[in-house]
Amino acid sequence: MSLHLHDITVTLGRGDSRTTALSGVTTSFGPGVLTALVGPSGSGKSTLLAVAGALLRPDRGQVLLNGTDLAALTDRERARARRERVGYMFQSGNLLAGLTAEEQLLAAASLAGLPPRTLRARTRELLTEVGLAHRLAHRPDQLSGGERQRVALARALLLEPELLLVDEPTAAVDRTRAEDLTTLIARTTRQYGCVTVVATHDPVVTAAADTVLDMPDHAAPAATPA
Ligand code: ADP
Ligand code: MG
Repeated sequence: MSLHLHDITVTLGRGDSRTTALSGVTTSFGPGVLTALVGPSGSGKSTLLAVAGALLRPDRGQVLLNGTDLAALTDRERARARRERVGYMFQSGNLLAGLTAEEQLLAAASLAGLPPRTLRARTRELLTEVGLAHRLAHRPDQLSGGERQRVALARALLLEPELLLVDEPTAAVDRTRAEDLTTLIARTTRQYGCVTVVATHDPVVTAAADTVLDMPDHAAPAATPA
């Protein structure tokens, strides 16, 4: 598995708010490798994740996920690629209100066209892996911020994504939680062999990453070993 971004340019907004969020970015990400994407606020980290995950089509450039150019797909094909090939973990967890932790995963499976019935055991196994065996029946409002993020990670892993995209996972948790969450993301990356990209400001995350990718303002990032 691999992700290769080639000459990506993204312009956002209209009129006065028009901004070049990414300009000619070329970079590659390998399988089982945790890459920390760092750079000042506004340097395009979230935009890069959105492009990599086929949430946003670049103005120019290729997004090659195992050889398929996600930027060249139709909207329908892109929606399918997002569902089937990409796992997302956002800061808030993006969970559905009213559903238990277990139901969050089953609902995602159902949306992806998989019969939830056959995934119940796997769902419990994954929630156990992320340390939530005792929280299967809890709803989002009954979980802590860190627990919600773990549910989101388990949900992302259920569909065995080729690409795992994580935006600022530790911004709202204390240092111990940040370390636990980071360890979990690193372990998962190696275990599942997915391409993992984590946008972050947190030294805890960069210390655990295999590679740190610096996003200078509006320039192509250069990879350096962690
Ligand atoms: P980061 O995640 O590194 O903080 P972003 O990818 O969110 O950076 O943003 C990159 C740039 O694009 C910033 O200058 C931001 O202000 C701009 N931007 C983001 N979203 C929009 C939008 N909808 N319209 C106009 N500009 C935007
Ligand atoms: Mg951001």
